[in-house]
Amino acid sequence: MSRTGLGQFGVMPPTVVREPTRDSEDIHTCPECGHPVVKSKGSQRIEKPDLVHVALAAAFDVLVTFGWRCERHPYEIVMPMRVGGEDASAFVDGWTGVEIRFSDEHVRHVATPEREVTEHVE
Ligand SMILES: [Zn+2]
Repeated sequence: MSRTGLGQFGVMPPTVVREPTRDSEDIHTCPECGHPVVKSKGSQRIEKPDLVHVALAAAFDVLVTFGWRCERHPYEIVMPMRVGGEDASAFVDGWTGVEIRFSDEHVRHVATPEREVTEHVE
């Protein structure tokens, strides 16, 4: 599976979406290489997100989420912070939870700015 090179032609390959792992010292690490990703915490972009909700899937080419990323790979790996459900306001005001299919085929809620969802879908 080669994901490298596509960017040269202006085609962004889909971002690999993985669950963050933690090492024995409770530090967030990349699930693929084990590198600490703590410093990357913040807003991340997921290219071509595999959104479960059909209307959302049609509306989003790029999903903004909150979490970590690892830059040690020829492709993008984003590890979204997991939220409990659609109500992500406990996480931060103005953000909501959307269901996305991770690269391991599991479906989980991740946080995204609420205004992005309302702008795209209404
Ligand atoms: Zn990595």
